[in-house]
Amino acid sequence: MTQVPLRPAVAALPAYVPGGRSPVGAAAFKLSSNENPFPPLPSVVAAIIDGAMDVNRYPDMYATELTEAIASRWGVPAASLVVGNGSIAVLGHVLAAVVDAGDEVVYPWRSFDAYPIAVAVAGGIGVPVPVTDDGRLDLVAMAAAVTPRTRVVLVCTPNNPTGPAVHADELSDFLAAVPRDVLVVLDEAYVEFVRDPLAADALAVFAGQPNVVVLRTFSKAYGLAGLRVGFAIARPRLASGIRATSTPFGVSHVAQLAAIASLRAADELLARVDAIVAERGRMLAGLRGQGWSVPDSQANFVWLPLGDRAVSFATAATEAGVIVRPFAGDGVRVSVGETEATDVLLEFAATFRH
Ligand SMILES: *Cc1c(COP(=O)(O)O)cnc(C)c1O
Repeated sequence: MTQVPLRPAVAALPAYVPGGRSPVGAAAFKLSSNENPFPPLPSVVAAIIDGAMDVNRYPDMYATELTEAIASRWGVPAASLVVGNGSIAVLGHVLAAVVDAGDEVVYPWRSFDAYPIAVAVAGGIGVPVPVTDDGRLDLVAMAAAVTPRTRVVLVCTPNNPTGPAVHADELSDFLAAVPRDVLVVLDEAYVEFVRDPLAADALAVFAGQPNVVVLRTFSKAYGLAGLRVGFAIARPRLASGIRATSTPFGVSHVAQLAAIASLRAADELLARVDAIVAERGRMLAGLRGQGWSVPDSQANFVWLPLGDRAVSFATAATEAGVIVRPFAGDGVRVSVGETEATDVLLEFAATFRH
């Protein structure tokens, strides 16, 4: 029978695999999606309830008040900001603005699952560059992978799922090696969790480098994963191109109000981030103390390079009461959540052959 053909690039897409959820009725800690374990602050819930009264109306398409709040918090002009429906969506808009059919997009691998999908959907050709054995981006190899067909390089810092952050000196050498008409996207979904003094300062880099776009999100440190708010910081000309490809009214009124309330409560939320960072230290030290080899983590998760045993580890961990995220044949990512969840994870990890 004759059928409507899918685009070959779409038919061949790997599915985005969400972190596992607890089976109904079972009690397990969900450490599989890098979510913030803290529930929303009362002030944020109040903003959400307030926003509920207006859902018969379209939201402010330009998220004006939220854009102003972001601009003043991070000291960037509003014309440089594009707010969208989570930074995954914003990345899609960035690629839609600059990638033409057959253009190459270089990205690290293993890295964020959404990258190969977003690149293929945009019509680009993905050029994955392996991370090093200690889970770091190999920026020298990534620069060497740039060809005259390359339009974009994706730099995930800290890298999801392996954990380390890109260092300032590595990034500056990399940017010096990449042509100025190649867009470099610095995906900083976890920037608030970074404590490595050598880590690159993306906003400072952005200030001096017109071909850099920074992606940020409210999903992780700000605890709004369920409401989908992310943004790009780009030169105004690029920002208008990204805006042009964005879904109209992509960020709901409720989400805009919640993000504004979260910025008002930034001190409280960043104190929670400090607690998660401390918990990360306890998880890393506990695992290393058991003899696990775990790369540095500057994010809210840790990476266990389990190779072929990734899936069996994850299955057994679920039975022990923690849901983690396996990447078959490669490793397991464990999000940092509740203190009790770390206890269960460490108790289980001690019993697993390593
Ligand atoms: C979680 C994450 C994002 C943010 O996604 P949202 O769409 O904003 O929820 C972006 N990049 C990376 C690498 C991530 O891990």
